[in-house]
Amino acid sequence: MVLKKLNMENINKRLLTVISEKYLSDNIYVRHAYSRVVDSIQQGVPDIVIRPGDTEEISEIVKIANEEDIPITIRGGGCCEFGGSKPIGDGGILLDMKRMNNIIDIDEENLIATVEAGTSWAELNNALSSNGLYTGCLGPGSGLTASVGGGISHHSVGGGGGAKYGPCTKHVVSLEVVLPTGEIINTGSQANKFSTAPFNRFGNGPDLAALFMGDNGIMGIKTKIALKIYPKPKFVEYKTFVLPRKSMEISAKIFNEIRHKGIDVYDAMYFMDLLVNVGVQQGIFPLWEDLKKKRGIMFYTVEANSDIELEEKVKQLDEIFLDYKGQELGPEISDGNIGKWHYEEQGHWLIAHNLWGLIPGFMPLDAECKTSITSYPKILKDLELWDMENSDDMIKILEITGMRPISGAGPIILIEDNTVELTAGFTSFESYHKEKVYEEIADINIKLWKSMLERMTKHGVSWYMMGDILSRLLVDIGAFDKTYFEFLKNIKNTLDPKHIISRGKFNFY
Ligand SMILES: Cc1cc2nc3c(=O)[nH]c(=O)nc-3n(C[C@H](O)[C@H](O)[C@H](O)COP(=O)(O)OP(=O)(O)OC[C@H]3O[C@@H](n4cnc5c(N)ncnc54)[C@H](O)[C@@H]3O)c2cc1C
Repeated sequence: MVLKKLNMENINKRLLTVISEKYLSDNIYVRHAYSRVVDSIQQGVPDIVIRPGDTEEISEIVKIANEEDIPITIRGGGCCEFGGSKPIGDGGILLDMKRMNNIIDIDEENLIATVEAGTSWAELNNALSSNGLYTGCLGPGSGLTASVGGGISHHSVGGGGGAKYGPCTKHVVSLEVVLPTGEIINTGSQANKFSTAPFNRFGNGPDLAALFMGDNGIMGIKTKIALKIYPKPKFVEYKTFVLPRKSMEISAKIFNEIRHKGIDVYDAMYFMDLLVNVGVQQGIFPLWEDLKKKRGIMFYTVEANSDIELEEKVKQLDEIFLDYKGQELGPEISDGNIGKWHYEEQGHWLIAHNLWGLIPGFMPLDAECKTSITSYPKILKDLELWDMENSDDMIKILEITGMRPISGAGPIILIEDNTVELTAGFTSFESYHKEKVYEEIADINIKLWKSMLERMTKHGVSWYMMGDILSRLLVDIGAFDKTYFEFLKNIKNTLDPKHIISRGKFNFY
């Protein structure tokens, strides 16, 4: 995006009346450090990086940005895989929310925690754990770094507890938001200025919190978030099974049956045969090295409040897995029980994208989405076709680097209702390889990435993390219903007439 010529000296001077010099930088190294996220092929270098300390500072910064017509990109943990937390093109203010990481209140009696938006899921759950509490949905797989504000902007799920609790946005009670013009609002129970603490999301008019949830940072800047919290059940069991051949179809049947039988499993996850095979070869699954047959693997985790409740749930789950000829691995991690590692060793924040870690140095080009349980085997088969159709381009990368990109999916995770998180995508090399820049690698990567995203969109999947590349691609390929898109655009125009926040996303600007 071309930005008009700004008087940066003047803008800097004005911003320094609001924020201390220590937390504002226009240093070239700092700006470049904030110019990329998980993928490295699309860089946008901001003019200024600011680390605000509270809501009032943000409000003032946003007002100045409106007066000066300088766009603002919001960044939490910077873990968005579609370039959402870096500027689109060069320029603008990068607002790093991570300094705002105070846990404001843990209301144990009402089971509500209020945090500043830059708090990470790990920080919050760490604070809750000493009182036997947790957030239920533990946020995204990147929860060690990713912020609560980022998760709420993405409907994140998948970092633990997804099957039982669904996305993190389901647990929001109220939000404090700085609007794109600088005013501050509170939603839900907190819209009543006489309410002293958040207790309910649905009241005082329409559910305005929803407007800012899953918005990919286009509607406002979330500064404080109140979330429901839960007592962590004391009884838990986890089991891992090797599935027979045709494991993909079988895994979908198992997920479906868990839902049809109404068993409130905490997590359930499936690893495709290819992932297990290559993962073991590459040493990322040492616990499965001794398996004779490296087939698809599935695990479940279930929680309960008593021994008897647990026993009954385990019995029902085991029946399903055994009916489909799953072979149970032993109870310990060393026996291959990844379910135990996932729950007990915080593996839920270490595992989500093991496709990305298959080969050291690979870069993720993500196509992670939500889709129905019944649809993912078909989609993954089609991705195999996509891979073959694009083989010539893949081979060009192989010729330069000695290694062909790998497409497929990381674990497939049961989340809310009849939905899975499909961690699809492909891995490739960066254009900078062995001390040389290969422009053709960059061109192929972006071409293949867009092609895969379009292919998946046409399967009708639901995207929750859209960022830079995907939000614009969806518009370019006409994926949005016209009336829906116009409605969304009208809301954006009303809230943010100058498109100060997240300028460029969804091609609104
Ligand atoms: C290893 C790995 C595993 C992952 N696993 C998962 C997973 O299991 N499930 C999943 O959903 N995602 C996953 N992700 C993607 C991503 O990490 C999550 O979506 C995460 O919730 C993003 O949080 P963040 O703080 O890093 O957000 P950022 O990347 O910083 O920001 C995300 C978006 O929200 C906006 N934003 C951030 N903070 C605010 C705020 N306070 N107010 C308004 N807008 C804001 C940004 O502008 C951007 O558009 C994974 C990523 C990685 C690298």
